[in-house]
Amino acid sequence: MKAIVVSKEHKPQVTEKTLRPLKYGEALLDMECCGVCHTDLHVTHADFGDVTGRVLGHEGIGVVKEVADGVTSLKVGDRASVAWFYEGCGHCEYCTSGRETLCRSVKNAGYSVDGGMAEECIVKADYAVKVPDGLSSEAASSITCAGVTTYKAIKESGIQSGQWIVISGLGGLGNLALQYAKKVFNAKVIAVDINDSQLEFAKQSGADITLNPKNEKVSEYIQEHLDGAHAAVVTAVAKSAFNDAVNAVRAGGTVVAVGLPTESMDLSIPRLVLDGIRVVGSLVGTRQDLKEAFQFGAEGLVVPKTQTRPMEDIQDIFTEMEEGKINGRMVIDFRS
Ligand code: NAD
Ligand code: ZN
Ligand code: ZN
Repeated sequence: MKAIVVSKEHKPQVTEKTLRPLKYGEALLDMECCGVCHTDLHVTHADFGDVTGRVLGHEGIGVVKEVADGVTSLKVGDRASVAWFYEGCGHCEYCTSGRETLCRSVKNAGYSVDGGMAEECIVKADYAVKVPDGLSSEAASSITCAGVTTYKAIKESGIQSGQWIVISGLGGLGNLALQYAKKVFNAKVIAVDINDSQLEFAKQSGADITLNPKNEKVSEYIQEHLDGAHAAVVTAVAKSAFNDAVNAVRAGGTVVAVGLPTESMDLSIPRLVLDGIRVVGSLVGTRQDLKEAFQFGAEGLVVPKTQTRPMEDIQDIFTEMEEGKINGRMVIDFRS
C-alpha cells in the first residue's frame, strides 16, 4: 500500500509499505481520508524528536475491513477514527480519571506509531471512535484532531454562555474553535490572526470581532473595549500570540495553550498572582470528547471547511501551511 512517511531529510514522502498482521484487539481500516494538521509539520521537522520512517497522520477516517480476535467495539463496514490519542495503557492514574491523553505510556498516531496518511491503517479497536451517520468522512477527519482539540480546549477554558473568548490563530484548529465557541458554548468570539484572509473567513463564520496584531495592539483593544476577555484559546504557532492572550484576559481569566511553537512564553508572576490568571495546556481530547465533537458535526452545528487533495500533493500542502495560505483544512483523499 502507499503511505506518506517522514523522510531522512525531514520531509513528507509518498512510499510503498507493507503492514504487519493484526494482533489481538486490533482492526484494519481501509483509509478514506486524512486531514493535514500543523502537528504533522512539527513531527516531520523533528520538533519533538526524530521519527524518520514513521507514517504520518492523526486526522484519519477509514472503513473497517478486518477485525482480529477480541474486537467487540467495531465491526466490518463501520467508519472509525485514527487520532493522535491512539492508545493509552488503560490502568494508570490518567487513564482511569478522564485524562487519558496524558497517559505516560500513550501511543500517538503519526508520531510514536504509524498513522492514518496511508491506504490502510491498523488501529486498536477500543481506541478508535466510530463516526456517526450523517457526518461525511472529510468533515469527520478534520474533527478527529482540529475539532476535538479545540472543543476540549474551550471546555477547559470554563467559558460561560455570553462571555468573551479570544481565539488566537484561525487556521485548521482555530476556525473550528470559533464554530464550537459560537454554536456549542454560545460565547462571543474575538478572532485574532496575522492573516487577513483567515479573519475574513472568521467573520463569515460568525466572529463578533476580528483583530490583526499587525494593525492593532490586540490586548490593549480588548482591555479597553471589553474590560478584558474571560478566556483565550491560543492555536497560533507564535510566542507573541501567547503573550498577547495573557495580556488580553480579565482578572480571573483563563488562557488555554494549544499551539506548539518551540519557544517559551513570558509570564509575569505579579500578573499571574495579583490578577488570578490561569494558564493551562490542553492536549487533544479523550475518546468521549471526540464522540461529542463528532456528534455536534453530525447535527450540523459545526461545519468543517475542507478541501480534498491527492497524496502526491503532500509537500505542496506543507508549504501552503507554512505560508499560512490554507483556509480550513486540506484533507488527503485515498479513495481516488
Ligand atoms: P494552521 O497552520 O492551520 O493555523 C495556524 C494559524 O495561526 C494560521 O491561521 C496563522 O495565520 C495563525 N498565526 C500565525 N502566527 C500568528 C500570530 N502571531 N497571531 C495570531 N495568529 C497567528 O495550524 P493548525 O493545524 O491549526 O495547528 C495550530 C497549532 O496547534 C500547531 O502548533 C499544532 O501543532 C498545534 N496543535 C496542538 C494540539 C493540541 O492538542 N494541543 C492539537 C493539534 C494541533
Ligand atoms: Zn493535529
Ligand atoms: Zn495510562
